[in-house]
Amino acid sequence: MSLDGAYDPDNLFARILRGELPCAKVYEDADVFAFMDIFPQSRGHLLVIGKASRARNLLDVEPGDLAKLIAGVQRLARATRAALKPDGLAVSQFNGAPAGQTVFHLHFHVIPRYAHEPLRGHAQGTAADADELAVLARAIAAEID
Ligand code: AMP
Repeated sequence: MSLDGAYDPDNLFARILRGELPCAKVYEDADVFAFMDIFPQSRGHLLVIGKASRARNLLDVEPGDLAKLIAGVQRLARATRAALKPDGLAVSQFNGAPAGQTVFHLHFHVIPRYAHEPLRGHAQGTAADADELAVLARAIAAEID
């Protein structure tokens, strides 16, 4: 999908938000929802999405919704640092399939980086063990202010 097009209300993350598909939930408030990436690029890779906006990407979103979403990203990034003590922490976000986007509901990746550990591939490989993701989700959730 290019940068243009309509929001699909049945996209994967919309379905997770509605509880139609499972996820390892980390955090939820009135504005944002965070859960573990099922194909983690590193240990603790999570996703932060907005709950109300029907933005597919950064270009679509209302600035007020973006402000709430990025505040949530910072909150989750801080909790991830406290829980997992990574050596670094990448925040990424892709717009349009040619840029690497695979799910068209605006989201940010929070990806802990560990010294000397290469990043695994994006949205590929074997799905992570659900129990391991649940343990990580609880550890990160416990550090949210
Ligand atoms: P993007 O490619 O930037 O649109 O990011 C979508 C992300 O969703 C990728 O990192 C995928 O690994 C991740 N993903 C795909 N299916 C699921 C799922 N069922 N639960 C959690 N994350 C998923």
